[in-house]
Formats: sequence, C-alpha cells, structure tokens
Amino acid sequence: ERETARAARHHPGVTRDGVRVEVAANINRAGDAAGALDAGAEGVGLMRTEFLFLERDSLPGEDDQEREYRAMAAALGDRPLIIRTLDIGGDKEVPYLGLAREDNSFLGIRGIRLCFERPDLFLPQLRAIARVARDHPNVHVMFPMISTLEDFRRARAILDDVRQELGAPRIPLGVMVEVPSAALLAEQLAPEVDFFSVGTNDLTQYTLAMDRMHPQLARQTDAMHPAVLQLIRLTVEAAQKHGKWVGVCGGAAGDEVGALVLTGLGVKELSVSTPQIPGVKAALRQHTSQELKELAARALQQPDAASVRALVKG
Ligand code: PEP
Ligand code: MG
Repeated sequence: ERETARAARHHPGVTRDGVRVEVAANINRAGDAAGALDAGAEGVGLMRTEFLFLERDSLPGEDDQEREYRAMAAALGDRPLIIRTLDIGGDKEVPYLGLAREDNSFLGIRGIRLCFERPDLFLPQLRAIARVARDHPNVHVMFPMISTLEDFRRARAILDDVRQELGAPRIPLGVMVEVPSAALLAEQLAPEVDFFSVGTNDLTQYTLAMDRMHPQLARQTDAMHPAVLQLIRLTVEAAQKHGKWVGVCGGAAGDEVGALVLTGLGVKELSVSTPQIPGVKAALRQHTSQELKELAARALQQPDAASVRALVKG
C-alpha cells in the first residue's frame, strides 16, 4: 500500500469522485523545497519563518530574509507559497531577542502580538516578503495568532504601507485560525481575508485548555475532538459564504483520519510534513466527497476524539 501511495505521489490530491484537495508541504527552509516537490507537494502551505531566526545566534537582516524567501518562491515556480510571518513566543523561544519572561507565555506577547510590539522585527520581514512578491506572484502571506478583527486589520495596514513604499503588488492575505475567537469571528473576518489556514496544534490547545506539549495530556490533546471540529466547521461555513477557501496546516491535516474528516468539513488545502504527502493523497483517493461529508457530519456528533477516530478505523 505504501508502494502504491509512493508511485502515485505526483497525481493531484483528489477524492475518488474527483473533488480537488490541494496537498501542500509544511517546510521552513528553501533547501527543503526540492524534497517536498519530489514527495508530491502541490505548494507550500506553511513556511514557518521563525526557523530562520531559531537556527542562528543573531537576527537575520532584511537581505538574509529576502534571499531565503526568494529562493523558496523560485523553487516552487508557479505553485503557491504561503509565508507565515514570525510566530515567536509560546513554545518558540529565540534566546538572543532578550524577550521578557511571562508566567503564561502561550497567552502572552506571542506571534502577531510580538510583531506589533517589535516593528524592528516585523518591518524588515514584511519588506523582505514584499520585495520577493514583486517578482513572484505565487507568494501569499498569513498572520499567526490572530485573535481579533483588530489584529488582522492592524497587520494588514502595516503590510499595505510597506507594499506601497516598495511598489509591491497586492499579496493574497490569510489569517491563521488557531485561537477559538478567530473561528468564532470567522463570519466577520471572511469578507476581509483571501483565505484561512487552521492551525490545529494551537487551536486544540486553546479550545481544550490543554498545553500542546504536556506529556500527561498528550493523548487528549487531539484535534479530532468534536469541540475543535465545530470551530473548523464554523470557519469553513463563513469562508464559503464569502467565496474564500480554508486550508489546514496543523498536524491534524497529515494524519489520515484528520485528512478525511477535514476534507469532509469542506477544507480545500491540507498542508502536511513532507513524508506524509503520499499517504494523505492515497487516503483521499479511497473515498468519495459524499462519504467524507457524511463522515464529518457523524464526527461532529461524537462525544470525544477517540470516537471520531473509531468511525474511520471501525
Ligand atoms: C498550529 O498551531 O497548528 C500551527 C500550524 O502553527 P505552529 O505549530 O507553528 O504553532
Ligand atoms: Mg500555531
């Protein structure tokens, strides 16, 4: 079965009845693009740019960043590249930034909030992205840890200024849905964004109030929990009303049950780690879109994540 999956990895992501689901890669560095494409990636759905910062001991400059984003955009040709702006804080510590310690770092100045506090981090990154977007129309941008409409508007306004200054074109803009409030506000966000990308790792943590790295809670911190699925359903419904698409770039997209349930909920893009790409495509090909819709409807009615998983395995 693995062999067949591998052999068919360059076929597009599609259900048995031909409904397209883009299967993209979560990769952080341009050097990983060739491997992702060879595994069958149809784009990059999440470039975690903080890795550029984590893998060194001083701040990368605007030029360093531009070089990296440009190499990634070029490697992908006309396939989409979604660059996520810096998500530092929470579990992602960058020692040389000298950030203040917080009692609850996951609930503190993290992600977009840190970028608002630190224009010296945010502006060079946005400038580097805008420069690349002038030459590469496949570049998309999304903001992490958006929890209010105001967060999104503020981030967009800063990017708009940078684009204007540099004569960069409009860049498709997305919001990560990884805080429950973003899902609950999806109806208001949808008219203003080009797409949503659900970060199930954080969305699960914040919905269930369970630390995503807590060893004793690991079994329960499962994105297939119906409470999390309800929030994804809300997001998809709001997006569809406004003609926007929803992807998932959290870990749930890459596990087979997750890929099937999410597709059934109406998700259009699954961004997963490179080794998971052939398996996700193979799983999609085994089911019709109607079967997956029914699976998702039943999943929403289950009492817990284990029961959702049993729907597929059983
Ligand atoms: C997520 O939260 O699901 C996500 C994709 O972002 P990260 O894992 O980088 O926090
Ligand atoms: Mg996250």
